[in-house]
Amino acid sequence: MTTKFRQADWAEPLIFELSNKGRIGYQFPPLEPEINDSLDPENLVPEALQRREAPNLPELSEIQVLRHYMHLSQMNYGVNSGLIYPLGSCTMKYNPIINEVLASHPKVTGLHPMQDDETAQGILKLLYTLKGYFLEVTGMDDATLQPAAGAQGEWTGIMLIRQHHRDNGELEKRTEIIIPDSGHGTNPASAHMAGFKTVEIQSNDSGTVDLDALTAAAGPQTAGLMLTNPNTIGVFEDQITEISEIVHDAGGLMYYDGANLNAIMGWCRPGDMGFDVIHSNLHKTFSTPHGGGGPGSGPVGVKEFLADFLPVPDIVEDGGVYSLDWDKPKSIGKVHGFYGNVNVVLKAYSYMVTMGGEGLKESSELSVLNANYVSRKLKDLKGYELTYDPEKPRKHEAALSASPMLNDTGVSALYVSKKLLDYGLHAPTTYFPLIVPEALMIEPTESEPVESLDAFIEAMTEINELAYENPVELLSAPHNTAVTKLDEVKAAHPKTICLSWRRFCQIMSDE
Ligand SMILES: *Cc1c(COP(=O)(O)O)cnc(C)c1O
Repeated sequence: MTTKFRQADWAEPLIFELSNKGRIGYQFPPLEPEINDSLDPENLVPEALQRREAPNLPELSEIQVLRHYMHLSQMNYGVNSGLIYPLGSCTMKYNPIINEVLASHPKVTGLHPMQDDETAQGILKLLYTLKGYFLEVTGMDDATLQPAAGAQGEWTGIMLIRQHHRDNGELEKRTEIIIPDSGHGTNPASAHMAGFKTVEIQSNDSGTVDLDALTAAAGPQTAGLMLTNPNTIGVFEDQITEISEIVHDAGGLMYYDGANLNAIMGWCRPGDMGFDVIHSNLHKTFSTPHGGGGPGSGPVGVKEFLADFLPVPDIVEDGGVYSLDWDKPKSIGKVHGFYGNVNVVLKAYSYMVTMGGEGLKESSELSVLNANYVSRKLKDLKGYELTYDPEKPRKHEAALSASPMLNDTGVSALYVSKKLLDYGLHAPTTYFPLIVPEALMIEPTESEPVESLDAFIEAMTEINELAYENPVELLSAPHNTAVTKLDEVKAAHPKTICLSWRRFCQIMSDE
């Protein structure tokens, strides 16, 4: 067995190492050939496709397997296990269990996506209703639920803008998408993938869009503007009407990155701010677990004049009967198999229904309260500062800077984040947004009670003191985690990183 590339301090044995020849952890009833001979796997699978050798699977008892995976899950960190998960921009809020109950209901899991519309009325009705709620929250006229993630929603939305300009015969000249330097990293990537050139404009001293810079950048070559509001430093663009006017006057469209609507749900709507296209991450704003590359959902909403371009099929209703409409000649086509990640959509549906309109509104209020509670308490500590107008209220998140700490003590934001792990807390988003040096972007979400917020504030305060008194201890943290300080250079080296147990590592050690 190859152990060469494993972390020396990784204490948990692999399930292969726990294996004991001949130990059995399963029970199958014996086959009953007299019932139906053809059910015997050896008769079902053509001989050429049958294995010659048994697979090298670990052999363990059931309790060993259970303990192994239980232990692995405990080594992990999740909203359900940790005290706080303040990962700014990623919105790690509590996912009510009832969402899972709905999404895993046999009436849902037993459906097949190839079923005729008339036999799948229930699910179509749920999706159609969710679409209606989404339009209500965002202030748009029509939507698609297909995109599987925020980034795919962005790309879909920009393709809609592209189709609009093509339809007007202006695509040749409208080649640029304007993106403020505070934009999420996926924005320029999506615009680029949709075939546009991206033009970055700098933020002003308040961290919001600089109107002069925008006016200078906008022109007949502008296809649109992509904006996150509240922006990535957690500040609401208070000149949003002026921004919309400048872009629309130039003939461009307004794209709203609504991955996180946590601060505004029920209070204001992108559709009323002048935006023409929006995506939102159901897997952030409307709970549903995410992270680790799991399934997401990034529906895209549009104003009426863009509705014909939406992906096919569309879910439509006529006299209480639901169906999938493929007849959209101007559509950009399909962006996901079947109807997107329906399971994620259902969890968001459950969240919206159980919260109700008032509940969503209140959750926005609480998420803003929590973000301001934390950032206000931390901004006056010696090592941290709230850049860009510290007195201005933040919305659902706040980007703190550890620059003073770095300058005074040599301890950077990275080490603050590493040390937080020793407290059993998750680190904030670190080094994003790029316009905040030594950024620690904190989003407590509305889920957290004040005790969790206080524990986080206490940990951040202690780390601040430690940085000034004993920085050396910070530099080797974390000390209490399953894996301590990682060699980041090695981890980024393609030759040494090994993510699967045997085959891959074997190949690499053979080389
Ligand atoms: C998370 C996020 C995205 C991207 O969403 P994915 O589902 O990860 O693709 C885009 N914009 C903002 C502001 C985000 O927070």
